[in-house]
Formats: sequence, structure tokens, C-alpha cells
Amino acid sequence: MELTSTCDEPVRLSHDEVTFLNDLPGAAFDIGYFDSCSLALGHPGAHATSLQAVPGSSWWLVWGFGTRILLPHTKECDAEDPFWPAEMCFLYAGHVGDHVFLRPPDWLPPV
Ligand SMILES: [Zn+2]
Ligand SMILES: [Zn+2]
Repeated sequence: MELTSTCDEPVRLSHDEVTFLNDLPGAAFDIGYFDSCSLALGHPGAHATSLQAVPGSSWWLVWGFGTRILLPHTKECDAEDPFWPAEMCFLYAGHVGDHVFLRPPDWLPPV
């Protein structure tokens, strides 16, 4: 599965950020130093990417416009994919820009 068109602005994490995220209690992933923006292509405002999951929340890095912060989001966006029933938006509740959905890599919109 692949995300629908995303911003993909690259970001390099600091050693402190990687250590913090990997040391969180219940951390689901062993994260690395490179990631990219998961918001929809052309989104307004700061960039954001999902980096770590712990029970009950996901941790996002938000950067740009002079901001750089790690934020836990406890609520996911509940928008449903109009073309792929039962698939929900990949982003957190209240995100900026369009919704982003996971779809098979060879998926094409119906004509
Ligand atoms: Zn972005
Ligand atoms: Zn959404």
C-alpha cells in the first residue's frame, strides 16, 4: 500500500529526537534519521510526519515556519476514503490540507 500524493519534503532528525522517540515506553518502531512530510501535496503551513507509535497515540514531527516540535496525537482523522471503503485517512484529526489515504500502488481512480 502507498499513500496518495504527499508533500514529501525531506527532513533529517537530530540524535536527540531519534533517541527520545525510540526510548518512549511501548515504542512500536525503531526509527531512523531520515523521513519526509506525510501531509497532502500542496498543504498549507508547517510540514508534519508520523514517526513513532505508542499505545494510545502517535508522535509526529512538525517543522517549518520557524517551528520544530515533536507532538503526540491521540486522535486520528476519521475521513473515509471515497474510493476505497473502510480505509480511513492516514493523518491525525484536524490536519491541514487534503486527506491522505493508503491505497495499492497500482490503484487508479474510476473513470
Ligand atoms: Zn509538507
Ligand atoms: Zn484526513
